[in-house]
Amino acid sequence: MTIVMKFGGSSVADRGQIEKVAAIVREQAHRRPVVVSSAHKGITDGLVRAARAAAAGEQADEVIAAQVAIAGSLGCDPGLLEPFLKEIRDLLRGIGLVKELSARSLDYISSFGERMAVRVIADFMRRSGLPAQAHDVWDLGFVTDSNFNRAWPLPGYEAAMQARFAALPTGVIPVVTGFVGKNAAGEITTVGRNGSDLTATLIGAALGAEEVQIWSDTDGVMTADPRVVAGARNIPAMRFDEAAELAYFGSRVLHPSTLLPAIAQKIPVRVMNTNRPHHPGTVITSDAKAGRRVTSIAYKERQTVLTLRSTRMFEQAGFLSEVFAAAARHGVVVDLIATSEVSVSFTTHDAAALAAAARELAALGEVEVREGRSILAVVGRELGRSRGIGAEILEAIAAAGVNVEMVSSAMGSINLSMVIADEDVPRAVPALHRVLFEAEER
Ligand code: ASP
Ligand code: MG
Repeated sequence: MTIVMKFGGSSVADRGQIEKVAAIVREQAHRRPVVVSSAHKGITDGLVRAARAAAAGEQADEVIAAQVAIAGSLGCDPGLLEPFLKEIRDLLRGIGLVKELSARSLDYISSFGERMAVRVIADFMRRSGLPAQAHDVWDLGFVTDSNFNRAWPLPGYEAAMQARFAALPTGVIPVVTGFVGKNAAGEITTVGRNGSDLTATLIGAALGAEEVQIWSDTDGVMTADPRVVAGARNIPAMRFDEAAELAYFGSRVLHPSTLLPAIAQKIPVRVMNTNRPHHPGTVITSDAKAGRRVTSIAYKERQTVLTLRSTRMFEQAGFLSEVFAAAARHGVVVDLIATSEVSVSFTTHDAAALAAAARELAALGEVEVREGRSILAVVGRELGRSRGIGAEILEAIAAAGVNVEMVSSAMGSINLSMVIADEDVPRAVPALHRVLFEAEER
C-alpha cells in the first residue's frame, strides 16, 4: 500500500514552507508516500512570462533569480540547478530568435518549474535526514498523448508506472514532478495549468493508492472562498460529484479534472492544509453522507455570455443544434445554458473564440455578447429535494442588491448556477453564505 501526497505551489513556496512539507512527509513515512510537487509558487508564471517576453523580443527572466534564491535559502549546492538554468537560458534565446512560442515550446519551458522544485526539495529532505530521491514523472512511466497544454496519459500507462515504481529502492521517498509529462516521441507535455493535482490522482490511480492527499493552504474544501467570505468554514466530507462540480465552478482548491482518476478507482482524496497539518481537512469519497441542504458556494469570474434571440427558434426542431455546432466550430467551450421559446443564452470563458462564433451566429438571429460576468454556483446533493431553496437563494441575492441575469439548474442536478456581474461577486457570495450557512446555526 502506498499513498500519494501532493504539495501545491504555496506549500513549497520557500524554505519555511518546505520545512513544513518535510515534517508532514516524515510523519507519514510509514505509509510509503509518493510525494508529488508543483513548482514553487510563482515560478511557472515567471517561466511563461519570460517565454512570452522572449517571443516579443524582450527580456523578463527574473524567474531565474527567484528560483536560485529559493534553492540558496535551502542550502542547495548551486551546481544542482545549473544544467536546468542553462537550458532555460538557451531556450529563451531560441524563442527570442524565432520570435514565436508554440504550445509545444510553452510546455517545454513551463516544465522547468517542477523539474527544479523536486530536485531542490529532495535534496533538502535528504540533508534533513529523510531519504528522498527526485524523479521526472516521465521516467516513471508517465507517457502522454501529444495534446500540449492539456495532455493525458496514454492508455496502459498504469502498468508502466507500476513496473517503474516497483523497481525503486524501498525506504527512499520518491519526490515526483507534477504537471509535466512526455509523449511517446519524448517531447515534453503538460496536463494544463494547476495540473499537479491531476498528476497526483493519475499516479494514485495507477498505483492503486490507499489515498491521495492534496496539500494546499486552506483547511480542506470550504463552504466558500475564504478570501471573499470571512465566515467560510471547512466541509469535513463530501462526495466526488459535489467536489467535481465545485472544482469546475471555480473553487480554487482542486483542478477540475483531478477527481476523474480517483472516481474511476474509488480512491479517497483528502484535501489538507500545509499550514495546519493536524486539521482534518476534507475527505472526498464516493459515499460521503449528505445530511445538509447545501455543500458549498463557488464562483468563476471573467466569463462571457452570449444571447441569441430568434423567432425561428419557436417550434422548430434542430435550431439549438445549429447554434452549438457553430460554437463548437470555433472551439467555444460552453458552460451554462438557459433557453426560452425564442432565445438561448450560454456562457464561456473564452471571449476571443466566442467573438468568432458570434459573427456566424448573427445569421441565425439577434446576438448580444456581455463580458465581465461571473458564474455563481450553489452545490449540494440535496438541492433538488430541498423545497423552497431556490427562492431562498434568489431572495438572498436580490436582498444584496445584485441582479441575476441568468439561472440554470437541470432536473435532479446537484447545483443551481446563476450569472451575475463580476463586480457583484463580493456582495453576492457573502450574502448567500449568510443565508445558507450562517443562518442555520442561529
Ligand atoms: N506549476 C503548475 C502551475 O502553476 C502546476 C501546478 O501548480 O499545479 O500551473
Ligand atoms: Mg498551483
